[in-house]
Amino acid sequence: MITLDEVRAAILGAVAPLAPAELPRDEALGLVLAADVVSEYQVPPFANTAMDGYAVRAVDTAGAADSAPVRLRVVGTLAAGAAPTTTVGDGEAIRIMTGAPMPDGADAVVMVERTTRDDDAGTDRARDGVFVHHAAVAGDHVRPAGGDLEIGELVFTAGTVLEPAHLGVLASIDVQRVLVHPRPRVGVISTGDELVAAGAVGPGQIRDSNRPMLLALITRAGFDAVNLGIARDDEAGMTAAIADALDRCDALITSGGVSVGDFDFVSNALEQLTADDADPRARVDWYQIAIRPAKPLCFAFVRGRPVFGLPGNPVSSLVSFEVFARPALRAMAGQRDTQPRVVLAVAEEAMPRKVDGKLHLDRVALRLVDGRYLASGVRAQASNALAATAAAQGLALVPDGDGVAAGDDVMVQLLD
Ligand code: AMP
Ligand code: MG
Repeated sequence: MITLDEVRAAILGAVAPLAPAELPRDEALGLVLAADVVSEYQVPPFANTAMDGYAVRAVDTAGAADSAPVRLRVVGTLAAGAAPTTTVGDGEAIRIMTGAPMPDGADAVVMVERTTRDDDAGTDRARDGVFVHHAAVAGDHVRPAGGDLEIGELVFTAGTVLEPAHLGVLASIDVQRVLVHPRPRVGVISTGDELVAAGAVGPGQIRDSNRPMLLALITRAGFDAVNLGIARDDEAGMTAAIADALDRCDALITSGGVSVGDFDFVSNALEQLTADDADPRARVDWYQIAIRPAKPLCFAFVRGRPVFGLPGNPVSSLVSFEVFARPALRAMAGQRDTQPRVVLAVAEEAMPRKVDGKLHLDRVALRLVDGRYLASGVRAQASNALAATAAAQGLALVPDGDGVAAGDDVMVQLLD
């Protein structure tokens, strides 16, 4: 048996980021930049006020205090979106709202809370005035042009994962299209003569749970999931289904048919397809991995595309996706950080196990209490018990041995 780390490293070594493509910015959430972004604009584009208040010349407010307010003539009002037309001269102020451009002459803003209006003026605009109760310092509450970004500044480097704030920044510098690694299109095929998609089941039949689960895992991971139905347990049909899938997708995930049973045809089908593949990277690797669940895995690289032959038991499929397929798909999406997220947790109860030479990935529920994760095993750990697994938020990595005692630390891989 081979270790999880060895298999994951082999798979990651076989996949590569998808060729960059230009996409509309607003379709790029979660995608990875394939080129640096340099700003062609200043942000903010002009000096403006961070506060509602009065644009003043700081020298005019020298010595101002609650006990000694300074009166300034108010010569105008500036709202956000207005273009200033009036200059602030000696002893003058302009009433100004957050985001409005700083008028010429002014070098500071006094926030409205530190002023009182001179009511004596009534409606006579010529006598409009304000009492300033605070001595401003030049630059107070002024956001300078280019304070956030300058022209020519490196905004984001290639490899950046575009999160919502990144899209906002790109909009602020009018970047409408971005060069990114596209979302991998990932096909999903279930295999098995016993499977029905929905509705009534006949003798020996079960409903296909892996396909909806895997499609949802792919979608939630931010990739494009392609539902390719059920392939039956015959080698020719399976080969044709996989060949067709490879024409339509960047990667393929199958479930079932990778054990040592008489009707496990996935690796045979993949062998057939690689036989006439001239690509030197073409390969079919059939692994027995020292983990539980998800011991068997067939990984192939066929027609330039990776195929993940996951085991059929639903919990095994889920675990295998998390530890092998997800990191590889992230790499294809251009993500540089492909490793699963693992946290340190405290076992709320014992997680006993037997020595068997394998790493156990026990499904655990996680609670975050006072900043610490507490892990407790879900009610059943059998590899077909998907209903029990549905309650899990993590995979406890229980090393070979006799298990983890209550209160012990345990590493837990977070589920999405
Ligand atoms: P296999 O790896 O094909 O031998 O399948 C192992 C077990 O997983 C068997 O009990 C299958 O019936 C079950 N199984 C395989 N595929 C699915 C699926 N898509 N949904 C639910 N159970 C499955
Ligand atoms: Mg099967």
